[in-house]
This record gives sequence, structure tokens and C-alpha cells, in this order.
Amino acid sequence: MKKEDCIFCKIAGGEIPSKTLYEDDRFRVILDLGPAARGHALILPKEHAENLYELPEETAAAVMVLAKRMAAVMRDRLNCDGLNLIQNNGEAAGQTVAHFHMHVIPRYKEDNQKIGWVPRETPPEELEAVKEQISFTKTEV
Ligand code: 5GP
Ligand code: ZN
Repeated sequence: MKKEDCIFCKIAGGEIPSKTLYEDDRFRVILDLGPAARGHALILPKEHAENLYELPEETAAAVMVLAKRMAAVMRDRLNCDGLNLIQNNGEAAGQTVAHFHMHVIPRYKEDNQKIGWVPRETPPEELEAVKEQISFTKTEV
């Protein structure tokens, strides 16, 4: 299903033109309009899902396989030195377009980009508390 006013639905469906790198029945892969580095691409599922929570598991698995294959293409053709996979969910996490997408970002030694976080000093009891809070068993997932 497509969502009426969703820009990535329109791009994935070909209604709005994009620099398309790849397309099949489930996905369109496009160049990001504001790339972090040369070759920065977005994997867009054609079916609308707002975020990872809504994404069908089968699609989630297929996204990772596609990302892995793209990583090899980028390494071989762009000669990049590294690669980030980034996927944002919710405003707090930096999501600006409410249609699931996976960033595939080739990285270069001199690209001067900062993608990451500031590590927080955390006492051992806090690590233990959070471990208790979010540990899970196979029956819970
Ligand atoms: P988010 O911050 O939601 O994870 O990433 C959204 C990404 O989509 C940004 O990197 C932004 O540059 C890209 N973007 C937003 N609108 C468009 C568009 O219309 N076309 C393309 N190709 N990229 C877009
Ligand atoms: Zn959409």
C-alpha cells in the first residue's frame, strides 16, 4: 500500500523522478539529494511503512541482504574505504521522512564527515540496570 501524501512512496513508485541505482518489485534504491558522502544511497521499500516498527519482518530481512550486495558494488566501483548503514526511527533519532529507508553511505578516509555519537561515562551499576531492563529471551521476541 502507498500512502497518499508520502514523498518516498511517490519516489519509490516512480511518480517523482529520482536518481535510481536499482529497482525491483519490492525496492527502489536512489541517491540521497543531500549526500553525506559520494554515493550516499537510500533503500526505499515500495510498500509504505513509517519506520522499523511497522516494517514487515520479511522486508526487513530483504533490506539487509540488498544493503550487503550494494556494499560490495560500492566498494568495487567507488573504491570507498568504508561504509555506514544508518536507519533512523522517530524524530528523536533524526528521522525526517516518515517512510522507512536505509541509508547506505560509502565512506572515504578524507571525507571529513561526522557520523556517530558522544560516548557517555556510565557507572557499572547503570550498565547492570539497563542490562536487566532490556535483556530478553527467545520467547519474548
Ligand atoms: P532521515 O533523516 O529521515 O533518516 O533521512 C532522510 C534523507 O532523505 C535525508 O538524507 C535527505 O537528504 C533525503 N531526502 C529528503 N527528501 C528527498 C528527496 O526528495 N529525494 C531524495 N533523493 N532524497 C531526499
Ligand atoms: Zn510512504
